[in-house]
Amino acid sequence: MNSINEIFPEITQPKKIVITMHQKPDGDAMGSTLALFHFLTQFEHQATVISPTNWADFLNWMPGVKAVIDYEKDTTNANAVIAQADWIFCLDFNTMSRTKKMESVLLASSATKILIDHHQQPQTTVFNYGISDTTKSSTAEMVYDFIYNSGFENKINDAISQCLYAGVMTDTGSFRFPSTSSDVHKMVADLIARGLQHSKIHENLFDNFSENRLRFIGNTLLNRMQVFYEYNTALISITQADLIKYDIKTGDTEGLVNYPLSIEGIKMAAIIIDRGEERKCSFRSKGSFDVNTFARNHFDGGGHYNAAGGQSKEALEMVVEKFIAAMKEHKAELSSYQF
Ligand code: 5GP
Ligand code: MN
Repeated sequence: MNSINEIFPEITQPKKIVITMHQKPDGDAMGSTLALFHFLTQFEHQATVISPTNWADFLNWMPGVKAVIDYEKDTTNANAVIAQADWIFCLDFNTMSRTKKMESVLLASSATKILIDHHQQPQTTVFNYGISDTTKSSTAEMVYDFIYNSGFENKINDAISQCLYAGVMTDTGSFRFPSTSSDVHKMVADLIARGLQHSKIHENLFDNFSENRLRFIGNTLLNRMQVFYEYNTALISITQADLIKYDIKTGDTEGLVNYPLSIEGIKMAAIIIDRGEERKCSFRSKGSFDVNTFARNHFDGGGHYNAAGGQSKEALEMVVEKFIAAMKEHKAELSSYQF
């Protein structure tokens, strides 16, 4: 993978561009791709954002989201756009498998592939150009750097600011994770100085849910959480019946994994959700416990040091048992927590 700086001389040359992200895009995946879209469309490019799957309703306020193609819903059209592409930007994922059904199409494409990502262990051989920086808070922060490094920061408009802020805010847990560097605050200061209405973005993202979802969270915390004090760990497991009962949609469970970390002493939190086609796992930790390696070794996943995910095809009860066994294997690290 060559340096992303090598593409800057080409940035003013009209191109057909696809921008994509990981499946079930979160605030950072959707925010960073749309910010890049609003930047590139100010040149003579034809740019299209394609999501590998659907996304949460709470992202639907984002400028430009209506034009995003859902690959699973509109596969023929998406394949035609990919077939024409000169450049494919791959944002907020480290391995092509994170694009699910798009993986084989992306790998077969002869377009130039450009990575912008902050996850660990990127699959660098499949990208022609790119930047992978695991110290960055978010892909949104990296798109901001990309725009500055291109020399066209005068093109940062309100749509770009809104999308970048949504990405950086969601990926830093509202500016509380250790990845929230002074550069992050400088970026946000710059966006606010340019006129960004930041509290509106917070409201758009966090105050637009259904009553059902709040009752579902209440039920989950009351009846679906196990706390293992000996291991400084808490686990939430959610059945398909729960999802149906409370009419839970894509994105409604986002952030739920963080709740147990508010219990004094808890250093690892996990959630296992029976999504029908698979059991989806999320892991969060504080300090020295590495959930990226944990997810890689036990749940066919990965991510970051303190936030990772994985999946399993086994039944929910089996995955819960597997988690408890894996947690027990790591007793020494979990009980010797360091900040
Ligand atoms: P979440 O738990 O919010 O789904 O994901 C936490 C972090 O881990 C995100 O950065 C996400 O991209 C990454 N992640 C989630 N699931 C997987 C997975 O199955 N495989 C890999 N490699 N990364 C994942
Ligand atoms: Mn991200």
